[in-house]
Amino acid sequence: MNTPYAARSRPQPDTRPRFDRSAPAGVAWHTVCLSPHFDDAALSLGGLLHRRAATGLGVLVVTVCAAPPPGALSAFAAAHHRRWGAGVGGERSAAAAMTATRRTEDEAALAALGVDGRWLEIPDAIYRSVPGGRWPYADPDSLFGPVDELEHELFRSLTATLAALPGIGRDTEVVAPLAVGGHVDHRLVRAAAEAWRGRRQGLRYYEDWPYAGDEDALRAVVDGSGLLPVVESLAAENVDAKVRAIACYGSQISTFWEHLDAMAEDVRNHALRRGRLLRSDHPARWPPPLAERLWHPDPERPAA
Ligand SMILES: [Zn+2]
Repeated sequence: MNTPYAARSRPQPDTRPRFDRSAPAGVAWHTVCLSPHFDDAALSLGGLLHRRAATGLGVLVVTVCAAPPPGALSAFAAAHHRRWGAGVGGERSAAAAMTATRRTEDEAALAALGVDGRWLEIPDAIYRSVPGGRWPYADPDSLFGPVDELEHELFRSLTATLAALPGIGRDTEVVAPLAVGGHVDHRLVRAAAEAWRGRRQGLRYYEDWPYAGDEDALRAVVDGSGLLPVVESLAAENVDAKVRAIACYGSQISTFWEHLDAMAEDVRNHALRRGRLLRSDHPARWPPPLAERLWHPDPERPAA
């Protein structure tokens, strides 16, 4: 039965994690990457995550909006499903099947990166409704606008869920999205990460890509933020793994690219652009360096 999410007796979703491929007892993760949606970690930070894991460090990707739609779809969500379904043969656009498809894609992508994964039971913004039955994110403007004030309980629940995740110590590097482009789920995850860790407790930020390809959008987020850029070099095999991982998200490719070759070229060009930030001492270095960029809180500056 398609029970509208807001019509349930408890309007907040159950955010307890349901999926955990590893999390061996007593082992602390070195790096935990918070991914608002199934593909954000691979798109934004796939090279660096692969590099960390390849050197034997424990890397976990926590995908926050990994739950199936809790009820009927808005016209906006149904349009997303039609596009995503077309990317995987047009047969899997039904609501529950779409989430199953996306979870299968995610498992393959994280395996390509050599990292572990965990899914939280929160629906994507396009699926959520608020008490009263209104869909707060039913058009592009609201999807890239502020978090609806009626979602405060979701924010509190997510913060508590993150704080209760096992295997995360004080030294664990937690990497959250900058929320470049302003997608509401990215804003929600960043805010919950900051409420959980504070800006001094090993919290780092990644550049939401492809949104961060827009330099103006990126500057709007980092200028005056008290965050410092830290460019990390990548090997060619790290970028190759990133391309393979992104290719696993077949339902999502058409959102940004016409075909896989265009995606691979964009990923490599982006890594080269970030690599140029490492070339100031050796401008003629060959092969040209590849990189991704994190942002760290400035230790000299009080937390905002
Ligand atoms: Zn996203």
